Amino acid sequence: MTLYEQLLIGLRHLLQRVSSEHWEQQIQSDLEAWRERRDARQHRSKYGGNSTYSDWIISSQNKHTVDDLQSVWANHLRHQMQLALRALSEKPEDERAETKILRSWERRRSAFSRSKPEGTSSRHSASGSDSRLRVVSCHSCGQKQVSVTSLENFVADDLIQGFLYGACVSGDIKALVDRLMDKQQDGVAEARSEVTRAAESAGIVVVEDCGPRTETCAACNSENISVSFWYLTNEGGWTFAPPELERSRADEAQKPAAESVHGSTDRTVTNRLFGLATVVFAFGTMVLVSRYLGRHGFPDATNSIRANWGLLLLIGLPLVVLIGGVLTTVSGVGIRDYASVFARQTLVKRIGVSVASIALAMLAILLASSIGQALR
Ligand SMILES: [Zn+2]
Repeated sequence: MTLYEQLLIGLRHLLQRVSSEHWEQQIQSDLEAWRERRDARQHRSKYGGNSTYSDWIISSQNKHTVDDLQSVWANHLRHQMQLALRALSEKPEDERAETKILRSWERRRSAFSRSKPEGTSSRHSASGSDSRLRVVSCHSCGQKQVSVTSLENFVADDLIQGFLYGACVSGDIKALVDRLMDKQQDGVAEARSEVTRAAESAGIVVVEDCGPRTETCAACNSENISVSFWYLTNEGGWTFAPPELERSRADEAQKPAAESVHGSTDRTVTNRLFGLATVVFAFGTMVLVSRYLGRHGFPDATNSIRANWGLLLLIGLPLVVLIGGVLTTVSGVGIRDYASVFARQTLVKRIGVSVASIALAMLAILLASSIGQALR
């Protein structure tokens, strides 16, 4: 029997179990088309367009005979079987297409089995699983919570492909559907308690679903919440961590505070001293240049491009160095951090600094040339 037929049988059985009569009949007809005429086009035509196979969801609200946890598994089963069926309907008898799907299921191991038991983050493990835990954070009281359904979603997403692989290889996909719908499948309860432990160790509280009404904080009932998707990681034990972006933002926010507390005042002082030395050096150079030009006049070859560039460099370079030195002295920020620090400022501040730098440069030129003239 082809994988295509196996999966049609599995999907039909699932729809039967959840009392989705309309779709069950549709799949039954696709199965007959395949068995009688080797016709997969009929099934394929139902993906895409309106009212397709891909946009119906199994839930008690849609009058299917499932509770919340069963609907999680039913939808994961349906989704994975449909993805495979859709691909297979292009080439239902192509063994390579079958192998490709089976292999992708096989490779997708559970996140818990994938990484070393005691080690660093599983984030970069080879198979690149991306199961995420949907965590609700309350901005009023700080509670972090995960609903029972979200937790089950994580477990189902983590395990479903492995289950399907096992079932298709041993040819008992109907039995898998039954075990999942009867909550008898091996490994689910263990995974559930493992995920619960990991969530709790990250300070996430497991709460009941609040149903179709607006999602709120279970501790203080606030609606001032946000949702983020946390990833499983092993840091001397399984735990969940907030998404990378959030984490790096939190680091950014903590940095300035941490630096002013811990001895980076040393670095600021060093920066300022370095800046001051630069200013003295650059200003001295400008005075010398001005004195030289005052005494000897401009080079004879004023029309020579090379001479003009040389002159520009002679005056311009010390000027740039001088401005840099002044900025470093005043701000205490090292020159390598200029770009990032500058970029964080408001537009008004950036324009202000730029205008002030130009004014300062002109003053410096005037002053340097006056001194240069006086020294002549
Ligand atoms: Zn709260």
